[in-house]
Amino acid sequence: MLRDIGAGRVKELELSPQQREVRVQFKDGRTARVPVFTNEQQVLRRAEKAGVPLSVRDDRAEAASAALVSNGLLVLLLIAGLVLLLRRSAQVASRTLGFGSSKPRLQAEGSVPVRFEDVAGIGEAKEELQEVVTFLRSPDQYTAVGARIPKGVLLVGPPGTGKTLLARAIAGEAGVPFFSMAASEFVEMFVGVGASRVRDLFRQAKAKAPCIIFIDEIDAVGRQRGAGIGGGNDEREQTLNQLLTEMDGFADNSGVILLAATNRPDVLDAALMRPGRFDRRISVDLPDRLGREAILAVHARSRPLADSVSLADWACRTPGFSGADLANLLNEAAILTARRQQSSIDESTLNDALERITMGLAVAPLQDSAKKRLIAYHEVGHALLTTLVPHADRLDKVTLLPRAGGVGGFARTMPDEEVLDSGLISKAYLRARLVVAMGGRAAELVVFGAAEVTQGAAGDLQLVARIAREMVTRYGFSDLGPQALDGDGSEVFLGRDWLRAQPHYSEDTGRRIDAQVRQLARLAQDEAVALLAPRRALMDTLVDLLIAEETLDGERFRGLVNADDQAALGSTGQVAAEADVETAQVGV
Ligand code: ADP
Repeated sequence: MLRDIGAGRVKELELSPQQREVRVQFKDGRTARVPVFTNEQQVLRRAEKAGVPLSVRDDRAEAASAALVSNGLLVLLLIAGLVLLLRRSAQVASRTLGFGSSKPRLQAEGSVPVRFEDVAGIGEAKEELQEVVTFLRSPDQYTAVGARIPKGVLLVGPPGTGKTLLARAIAGEAGVPFFSMAASEFVEMFVGVGASRVRDLFRQAKAKAPCIIFIDEIDAVGRQRGAGIGGGNDEREQTLNQLLTEMDGFADNSGVILLAATNRPDVLDAALMRPGRFDRRISVDLPDRLGREAILAVHARSRPLADSVSLADWACRTPGFSGADLANLLNEAAILTARRQQSSIDESTLNDALERITMGLAVAPLQDSAKKRLIAYHEVGHALLTTLVPHADRLDKVTLLPRAGGVGGFARTMPDEEVLDSGLISKAYLRARLVVAMGGRAAELVVFGAAEVTQGAAGDLQLVARIAREMVTRYGFSDLGPQALDGDGSEVFLGRDWLRAQPHYSEDTGRRIDAQVRQLARLAQDEAVALLAPRRALMDTLVDLLIAEETLDGERFRGLVNADDQAALGSTGQVAAEADVETAQVGV
């Protein structure tokens, strides 16, 4: 390069001391970067000599500005991060502190499509609630004579009995907006949210009056205050206080009626129940037989039912079913009907749907084996006793078709219509149930002997224990006399008085209760064995038939048993011996 300078080929030089290089611009237009190490001075001198213009570049400024830019970028990045963080936490804060503004599911006026005719089987409750519709529609009728329109109505009843449906029907009939909220939606992790949600709900409702507010499961907030292990729950109590205040706060006859549903009225705070708050309390119970028939009819309206189906029969077959269970039964049947590509729901589909709901899914039948025979004897034991014992339920069918969950077969019974309708249970009826429940174990004892009995009767024994204990401690059906020794069977309530849930009787009485329960169970087993033992031949026939056909219906089963009894009557004195056994038991 030095040579090039000397030869005058170089047009311009630019020295960059920081990078220790020289940028050379040749006269012919080429450029080059030449590193210089210690010979900077030499280059300078030579350039000066040759008269080549030389400039020295000050890189420091450039380096400084580069550093500035990179630092600036870092700061910007940090700020952006911070802003992002702040925005996130602001969102969280507004979600909680702004109490996420309660969004009650508001339906526009008259848009609730449910009517009273859609709710069946709860006669009295419906009548009472019909009045609420009048309050909403023509309040003047009441205010003219100085009546104060109730502010709150509490619907009490087990789940699935149609409480929500009733509330919606009231709104539908009166053509007013319907605000609905589950009480658990009030309670949040943050104290004070529930209270402001209550305020918000009432504010919105008042703007839309007349209207209905429905709070489901009100026991979630309405529990007695100051209760629970380790003191109360602040958030819940504040929410409840707010609810109480709001109920006091809205003026009489403002047109807002609060409906609330619960299945635990016993745990509600007394302040909720005083007049001026929930003035009315309406119980919505499980439907009786006629009620069930009516509910089935309501749900059958929209489904094609075969002519052969008798809803009255199905009402008999479904004791203890709630409205929701019955709706589910018809729905399951409709699904099965669609799956089988039939055009209407028939008896057998309903039957399958019922078994699916009550017993679980059907699984493949067992092969004919020792196990199957044992199950058959067990079930025939139950079925035979249902037929033989006076006061027992009527046999509907006995089957060996297994169900998921380890059920090998079952004997299904239908309670007597009289028992069903009256709701009264006699001592004789309960004793008959004990004997029938022991039928499975008794059959195993008679056929296979004491050493060969199986655990298959575990479920039956539990049932026996439960019924026998209730007989002794609640109904006074034992030698201990007419004394209630237990509460109403409600579970320990971990909110108010779990310490008091211990028995109210002495240890000695406890021992006597146990002895009575044991005696009832033992007598039931003895009676079952006494009835089955002389009918061994009949049992064998029935078991063979059951194994061959898998299912026997109640009518056929009874026919076979009666035919056998007729035959026995003519022949031996065996029946007389049995009669002795039965009279001996009556005294118990
Ligand atoms: P709850 O609020 O008492 O738990 P729901 O009102 O939510 O019960 O009932 C659930 C469903 O069961 C309803 O949508 C309805 O289809 C059916 N149902 C319950 N009770 C009745 C009844 N009395 N009449 C007709 N249908 C009923």
